[in-house]
Amino acid sequence: MRQTMRAPLLYTVLTAVILLCSPHLFAQQQGVTLKTVVIDAGHGGKDPGAVSLDNKLKEKDVVLDIALTLGDKIKKAYPNINVIYTRKSDVYVELNERSNIANKNHADLFISIHCNSVPKKSKAPSGCETFIMGANKSASNMEVCKIENSVVLLEEDYSTKYQGYDPNDPESAIFFNLMQNAFFEQSLIFADLCQKNLNKSPIPTNRGIKQGGLLVLWRTTMPSVLVELGFITNSNDRNVLGSKTRRGDLANSLFTAFEQFKNQYEGKIEIDLSEITIKEDSDPEQEEEIEAPSAPVAAPANDAYYAVQIFAVSKNLKDGASEFKGEKTIGRFPSGSLIKYTVGHYSSEAQAIKQLPALQKKFKGAFVVKIEGGKIVKK
Ligand SMILES: [Zn+2]
Repeated sequence: MRQTMRAPLLYTVLTAVILLCSPHLFAQQQGVTLKTVVIDAGHGGKDPGAVSLDNKLKEKDVVLDIALTLGDKIKKAYPNINVIYTRKSDVYVELNERSNIANKNHADLFISIHCNSVPKKSKAPSGCETFIMGANKSASNMEVCKIENSVVLLEEDYSTKYQGYDPNDPESAIFFNLMQNAFFEQSLIFADLCQKNLNKSPIPTNRGIKQGGLLVLWRTTMPSVLVELGFITNSNDRNVLGSKTRRGDLANSLFTAFEQFKNQYEGKIEIDLSEITIKEDSDPEQEEEIEAPSAPVAAPANDAYYAVQIFAVSKNLKDGASEFKGEKTIGRFPSGSLIKYTVGHYSSEAQAIKQLPALQKKFKGAFVVKIEGGKIVKK
């Protein structure tokens, strides 16, 4: 009940804060290279994480082994890349500290590695899923976030450190910062690469990309994901997670995802965001709060012009919505599960660039785009 009532507020907050950087902007910067990756093995020390039904296999051990193997592979293939671990042994690291490590080292990518679980009496689902920071859109997503976030109960004074976060109410994790959302598209791209590559791993069931209020991703200021590699409570997944060789296969899949992300980040390959979708499990209790994007207002075909993209969100906003901060001439361009919103209609790029500083004051991260045939095309 409480969650249902909070949902509209949640979406308003989300809509207001999701500001995106164009993936093409990353690619177009001359000489951009991926220099630092932070690999976060979940749990550790006094926090075992999820445990197999026979009590013999612990998430903290599985994910540490995969994290270290992944890091080794990256160091071997790319000696110039700085690989940093949030932990290299069986120690407990606070969630805050994990994102601190990534932020202070100016990481270009943050990968948090975990395993899923369900209580004994439930059916035993299988498969991998990758989370990016965002609103929990279903009860099952919320359950995963609740489990992963509940480790803060082991930390002293968690309520102060996490701004009043209550592990029993995962929706209270909506106070995430603006910076996180600036990396939404890049996080989405890496999440998609993780899922695609893990699909070829010994745990092939693809449960999709999901969004959730995960504390470990909350304050990171770079593209960040949390991968749930499989269910330690499912017999097939458990056998894979319990085998050193097959853990190596999972690390390999993540390494390939990393390599492809690096190439994309450095502008060597392009990834079409419109083909990536975020999975929204059907959850009748929440369905009414989520507005499906309606048909966009199409620009006349073949009419090339420039505009300023101000943000992209999953919500369909009407003209005059407060999120537009008084701006008119709003353009709407669907991209996967998101709608990109633009302001203005300029015949030259120079005219659009002239308007940019004023718009950036209102919409952090705004940038100029070219629109052709009713679609945002590259500059
Ligand atoms: Zn975990």
